[in-house]
Amino acid sequence: MARYTESACRICRRENLKMYLKGDRCYTDKCAIERRPYPPGQHGQGRAKFSEYGVQLREKQKVKRLYGLLESQFRGYYHRASAAKGKTGENLLTYLERRLDNVVFRLGFADTRAEARQLVRHGHFRVNGRKVNIPSFQVKVGDEIAVKEKSRKIVRINEALEAVDRRGIPAWLDLDKGGFKGTVKSTPSRDDITMPIQEQLIVELYSK
Ligand code: SF4
Repeated sequence: MARYTESACRICRRENLKMYLKGDRCYTDKCAIERRPYPPGQHGQGRAKFSEYGVQLREKQKVKRLYGLLESQFRGYYHRASAAKGKTGENLLTYLERRLDNVVFRLGFADTRAEARQLVRHGHFRVNGRKVNIPSFQVKVGDEIAVKEKSRKIVRINEALEAVDRRGIPAWLDLDKGGFKGTVKSTPSRDDITMPIQEQLIVELYSK
């Protein structure tokens, strides 16, 4: 399966945003964007001047990489978002947030979305008691996401849970840390997504 092989820190530096793609390391002084706050590459420290298209493209790339998606997957979400009722940009973010791998990450069962995706693929989670190993699975209000009984001893899940307070749980989710499970309380609203994202730029890009 195709996937990004670029270093996670290069992605942050390219998008000029601390995207927390490496878990623990992002909270230390080893964070690359804090040490080198300019784009990677030979000309990274030169003056970057973007056209209107360039600004829109960078915004799309930023969100796509934040959620670890490929172009075709991301475009698929855009089409679903534009076909749904309401604002396309907000719909897009809601679809992305409701992905099971994102929810596992948001609930604190994994340090990063990439790790969450791997854990989901390996079948460590149940949704409403049924095994789901599809990272793109869309959770809905009332769903219960739980770590499989046998997987509760996995060190990285436990370590991630120990550090959950550092990141916090979004208001639309509820975590039962001791029970290794979480519940979807509501549909994520625009205000629940705190990363600086200008979704309108993505809509403008794809509407061309
Ligand atoms: Fe981004 Fe810093 Fe984490 Fe690297 S360490 S992924 S630059 S936030």
